[in-house]
Amino acid sequence: MPRSSIIAIDGPVASGKTSVGKLLSGELKYRFLDTGIMYRAITWLALDQRIDVTDEDALGRLACDTVIRLKEGTDGVVLIDGRKVSEELRKPDVERAVSLVSMVPEVRSALVAQQREIAQEGRIVVVGRDIGTVVLPDADLKLYLSASVSERARRRHAELMRHGRSVEYEQVLNELEARDKLDTGRDHSPLRPAPNAVMLETDGRDLEQVTEMVLHLLGEDLWP
Ligand code: C5P
Repeated sequence: MPRSSIIAIDGPVASGKTSVGKLLSGELKYRFLDTGIMYRAITWLALDQRIDVTDEDALGRLACDTVIRLKEGTDGVVLIDGRKVSEELRKPDVERAVSLVSMVPEVRSALVAQQREIAQEGRIVVVGRDIGTVVLPDADLKLYLSASVSERARRRHAELMRHGRSVEYEQVLNELEARDKLDTGRDHSPLRPAPNAVMLETDGRDLEQVTEMVLHLLGEDLWP
């Protein structure tokens, strides 16, 4: 594996990590792994099977028994035990429950094992909440993207409206703050920057500008 081949990007909801990660992986011709999709997949499956999202044992078993594969070259399409799922993962009920499901230690350990297996070949951009701190602490470059809560709620609101979901800005803001609180406050793998992560503020910057900043970092620091 070439040395500079694993790039970890963490950050809160709507910090731009997924969009920047996708652009970056396209530029570098790397694979792209959005780990949030995996937590959404388990959440969707739990809701589909009427599993109580506070039943930690049942959720842990579900995560251990489920193989999730991201289809290469497709946008967010996931194979859950061979079954194709995509749009379902963005539904409001999944959105509301996902931070609860992802607090369960057994769910995390099952998914982290799958994430490490996918990443081990290298040449990959991996995005999530705990990639630089827990999943791939030896990643060659660790980034932590952030933006003010109002900017992130504005982006998320615009994205939902683009997808035809008519929802109030205030509601988006409240849900985003609730998810931030759960993701940063949980005992296992809370969202926080790795000690040696490069911090990037994305307020007032578009995706291309942030991606260019990252490519610049890579050019200067890793591929001189
Ligand atoms: O990134 P996305 O918003 O799709 O992630 C959905 C949820 O999955 C997050 O709010 C978080 O609770 C959980 N998650 C996590 N660890 C990751 C990725 C996502 O706990 N590495």
